[in-house]
Amino acid sequence: MAFESLTERLQQAMSKLRKKGKVTEADVKEMMREIRLALLEADVNLQVVKEFTKNVRERAVGAEVLDSLSPAQQIVKIVNEELTTTLGSETVGIEKSPKIPTIIMMVGLQGAGKTTFAGKLANRLKKTENARPLMIAGDVYRPAAIDQLKVLGQQLDVPVFDMGTTVSPVEIVRQGLAVAAEKKNDYVLIDTAGRLHVDEALMEELKQIKELAQPNEILLVVDAMTGQDAVTVADSFNQQLGITGVVITKLDGDTRGGAALSIRSVTGAPIKFTGTGEKLTDLEIFHPDRMASRILG
Ligand code: GDP
Repeated sequence: MAFESLTERLQQAMSKLRKKGKVTEADVKEMMREIRLALLEADVNLQVVKEFTKNVRERAVGAEVLDSLSPAQQIVKIVNEELTTTLGSETVGIEKSPKIPTIIMMVGLQGAGKTTFAGKLANRLKKTENARPLMIAGDVYRPAAIDQLKVLGQQLDVPVFDMGTTVSPVEIVRQGLAVAAEKKNDYVLIDTAGRLHVDEALMEELKQIKELAQPNEILLVVDAMTGQDAVTVADSFNQQLGITGVVITKLDGDTRGGAALSIRSVTGAPIKFTGTGEKLTDLEIFHPDRMASRILG
């Protein structure tokens, strides 16, 4: 890591104070500054940082820190607990439909990792539940995306429904769902198009697909490296579509993953999975406590 961990920072800030024997509110303020800087370096959005430090501060000025023998550790503990709570306290799986198929729609910006995640999820469902998923190739603006999904399907032995790039995605989904009903697939994974930026045409199309498919899950796939931008993206997707969960990809990179904290705070939607590499097996269930430790460093 190129930057110091928050724990180290707080310990350094505190070491000057040890001799004084007692911690004052000014000292707590100094530590709050360190926490703010560390979170900003971890790419947490400014507004989220402000709210978060306010919560930590309220707890920190309480007696549990001021009277403590190791205030720095005490603050780290509070920060860790608050991070875990904000990130979601527990792991949440896929929301299943009472009757088959469970329909899962992947949304997000281009390059976030939607298509890859669709393959990873299909693989996981097959392995853990012996499921028979069908994947629908709805990203008609990026011909390579359809081929990519087909290749994944072949590797996994999972059928992929596609109609090339000349039919509207809504129609593709309509026909894909009919095939799934006929073949009695228990899961349908819909890969949708992304753009480089959130735009109205994209949202309109996704709304139509949602309307038609009535998915059990709308999972927003976000690249952990997008940092500050992640909030704006997550907020607009959530406002327009009402996302049910979040997938954070590329956590194998050296980002602290502050985007996770920002997205969770802004949307309130649970983070369900993390992507940790390009391979089909590089998928993990999200653990809030592990993410908290990562952000904390
Ligand atoms: P889409 O445009 O949202 O469908 O994105 P893709 O699934 O095509 O992924 C874009 C690029 O990111 C590809 O090169 C993927 O191999 C890569 N990618 C996806 N998920 C991960 C991940 O968790 N870790 C890493 N390192 N790369 C990933």
